[in-house]
Amino acid sequence: MEPLFQVKIDCAHCGEAFRTSRVRPSFRKTVKTDADFCLHYKDVNPDYYVVRVCPHCGYASTENFSDLTPAGQAAIQANISEQWQRRDFGGERSREDAIQAYKLALVCAQLKKEKRRVIAGLLHHIAWLYREQGDGDQERRFLQHALNEYMLVYETGMDELNQARLMYLIGELNRRLKHYHEAARWFSRVVNDKRIMDAAMIRASREQWAVTREEMRAVQGQLKEEAQEVQQAEKVQQAQEAHMQERRL
Ligand SMILES: [Zn+2]
Repeated sequence: MEPLFQVKIDCAHCGEAFRTSRVRPSFRKTVKTDADFCLHYKDVNPDYYVVRVCPHCGYASTENFSDLTPAGQAAIQANISEQWQRRDFGGERSREDAIQAYKLALVCAQLKKEKRRVIAGLLHHIAWLYREQGDGDQERRFLQHALNEYMLVYETGMDELNQARLMYLIGELNRRLKHYHEAARWFSRVVNDKRIMDAAMIRASREQWAVTREEMRAVQGQLKEEAQEVQQAEKVQQAQEAHMQERRL
């Protein structure tokens, strides 16, 4: 059996029908999960096929997108469809194709003023694809964008239901970006806030808080070593200079 199967979609923007691929459930085998919920798959990565791209008009969306408003449609039409050169993402996708599909969905989401939580999720997924590729610079770039959006979601308080998960994620993304003090602050909030009942998130925050402290200690140790090396080098130089002076005398 092939891992992919095709489904028919009616485009929410232009109304034309098109086909997009999905991964069969029996092929979705995960090998590990990162602390920021990134799943790693044994064979095919189903994330590659989350974004549906209409080959006729270029409108790219996921199942989490809300309906298009007239203003959203006008923005998609002017900024995407009028420049769109027919391209079909319906078959098998490479990682590069998947990244492009996600970036297209991101632009569409921004144009149609999609919910922040959805935009944050797209940015986070793009970071994961770069992680899979081993491109640390691009991964960090998109993690930082995702973090900014998650912060805005938190500040607007629109996500009461998943508040603990959101706070934990903000902590974890800060940790991955090496903002250790910020990371520790968010993890400690999840652990110490008496209103939070989500046991899984409290446990995860406790674990990642410990990891953060370890990493902070390692960084401080490294700084100390570097400082000692500088001191040592200065001493050697001073000794040499003193020696030269003596010889001149
Ligand atoms: Zn379309």
